[in-house]
Amino acid sequence: MIKKNFVALLQISEPGETPDPHQRKRAIGIDLGTTNSLVATLRHALPEVIEDHLGHALLPSVVRFSQDGVQVGQEAMEQAAVDPKNTIVSVKRLMGRGFADALEQSLPYDLVDAPGMVQLSTRAGPVSPIQVSAEILRKLRERAELALAGDIDGAVITVPAYFDDAQRQATRDAAQLAGLNVLRLLNEPTAAAVAYGLDTGAEGVYAVYDLGGGTFDISILRLSRGVFEVIATGGDSSLGGDDFDLRLVEWAIREAGLGDTIDGSRLSEIAQATTWRQLLSEARRVKEALSSQPMASMHVVLSGDNEIKIPLTRERFEALTSDLVEKTLLATRRALADARDALQGEPLNLEAVVMVGGSTRMPQVRQAVKALFGLEPFIGLDPDKVVAIGAALQADALVGNKTGSDDWLLLDVIPLSLGVETMGGLVEKVIARNATLPIARAQEFTTFKDGQTALAVHVVQGERELASECRSLGRFELRGIPPMPAGAARIVITYQVDADGLLSVSACEQTSGVKAAITVKPAYGLEDSQITEMLQSGFAKAETDMLERRLREQQVEAQRLLDATRVALHHDGDLLSTDDRTQIDALMDRLTQTAQGSDHQAIRAAVEALAAGTETFAMQRMNRSIQRALNGQQISSL
Ligand code: AMP
Repeated sequence: MIKKNFVALLQISEPGETPDPHQRKRAIGIDLGTTNSLVATLRHALPEVIEDHLGHALLPSVVRFSQDGVQVGQEAMEQAAVDPKNTIVSVKRLMGRGFADALEQSLPYDLVDAPGMVQLSTRAGPVSPIQVSAEILRKLRERAELALAGDIDGAVITVPAYFDDAQRQATRDAAQLAGLNVLRLLNEPTAAAVAYGLDTGAEGVYAVYDLGGGTFDISILRLSRGVFEVIATGGDSSLGGDDFDLRLVEWAIREAGLGDTIDGSRLSEIAQATTWRQLLSEARRVKEALSSQPMASMHVVLSGDNEIKIPLTRERFEALTSDLVEKTLLATRRALADARDALQGEPLNLEAVVMVGGSTRMPQVRQAVKALFGLEPFIGLDPDKVVAIGAALQADALVGNKTGSDDWLLLDVIPLSLGVETMGGLVEKVIARNATLPIARAQEFTTFKDGQTALAVHVVQGERELASECRSLGRFELRGIPPMPAGAARIVITYQVDADGLLSVSACEQTSGVKAAITVKPAYGLEDSQITEMLQSGFAKAETDMLERRLREQQVEAQRLLDATRVALHHDGDLLSTDDRTQIDALMDRLTQTAQGSDHQAIRAAVEALAAGTETFAMQRMNRSIQRALNGQQISSL
């Protein structure tokens, strides 16, 4: 590959003001959940979930449009039963969704068929899911501002790995409406893995098993060079802890001899004294108790104030719900099979399994997951908070608070230049050291040989002129370049570094549109001391590197001219007299010899000599090809 000409300089955003390193910024991570939401931050370098004034960490994701304004959280939830049409729960299921999609979910709201996204008809008029989510986010922002005593500089908000562009954009819009500066949307499973510090762990495959109140998600991630990539997702959007509660209620009704179906008339004896909601909440209490004790009793109030207590062992509970656990395993196996397909023959080395969601506290769930994966799952962090914690860690890093050996990567500049290897083992710097993040730069390159259909792209980092002296970040190949004469192809190579220091390199051949790309984390595995060393050697070797560069450039040029002359001789050598041919052969021999030496000026002189010595030959070839073209025309015009 050789550099063609400098094409474009594009900076995708204005460089922000350099942060004062002594001032910590207020950064938060938000887990915007279907049922509950949380906000977390880092205090004294430790992540913690921010509680409200009553000491509650979880904010129910419920918004009520009441006569007196908007209620969010617990107080809204308490009114859900009496004012269902104006009390919006599980709005996450509607984010970025159209009217038809929303109808399918058979929700208790009056839906409005608005262009783009569905709306909900409430007392406050039609509202979009974005507005409803914004209310939840605003409440969390206010909670955080109170706790951190000031404005929030930036937030990371988590979304399910399977969210599409519309759902992600809707989440961003909601955050903006809530007055939040979104540093990044982060996939929930990735956040959980980050909370456990797995992003600095061994490369390989990670599974995140997330069983909440109403949903089950399984995600298979691959960690490569410090970057998590989601390679498969699966789950069941209507399977969660609530189903376990329902099982218990059904069981209790049977046990109490009140019938074996949930049928209005048979339940009337219970219904007079106990609401369905109360039964479910009692079942939930018993279920949660059984996670830490072998037995519990379910209390059911019957008519006439008769209360019955039905004892239940953990064993029995596990038997009653084993099919629900099995359902999650089925989806997990399917996701693993998809992950294997995605890896295309690469072995699936599972490094760890992370547990997320309150329902993973159930011992039978932990055992089943352990048996399936053959690994002890990660349960050290609170499964309700782990996503918010991961988001907070990421947010803290993105605003530039992180300290320690790797803090340079979190500054908003590039510490070492990023370049690409060109012919002769030379480095063409694409993004210079100290460029402000985020940044994108594109340069145009071309092929070296006639008919070259593939191009090797070697991404390097460092200040040296030779690729062998720089750090290799990754290689990929651009294939399918249409065969063209050397130097005719136009291949644009783009380097883009996002706010997190993640580098994406893509190569695109302009006429055919063929493309190839990789993503790497240039900071991965790089110590502070190594950076200093690389910078120092860059300065110390600047002069010798420059001489080496000139030499190699001339050698590449010599090679190119020799190749071209050989091709010309092969096709049109018959145009030359014996004397002319001998002279050209001698000039080629001289250039071949000189190019093996280390005198760049001598090579240059030999290149110029061969170029001058073949000038007449080039003219003769030109005449011949014009003649051929004219002949062709005559024939065709006859
Ligand atoms: P999440 O959506 O992640 O907040 O999870 C909520 C679900 O976790 C609810 O169904 C809870 O009943 C369930 N849960 C919370 N704690 C426990 C526990 N100790 N044992 C069993 N389930 C629990």
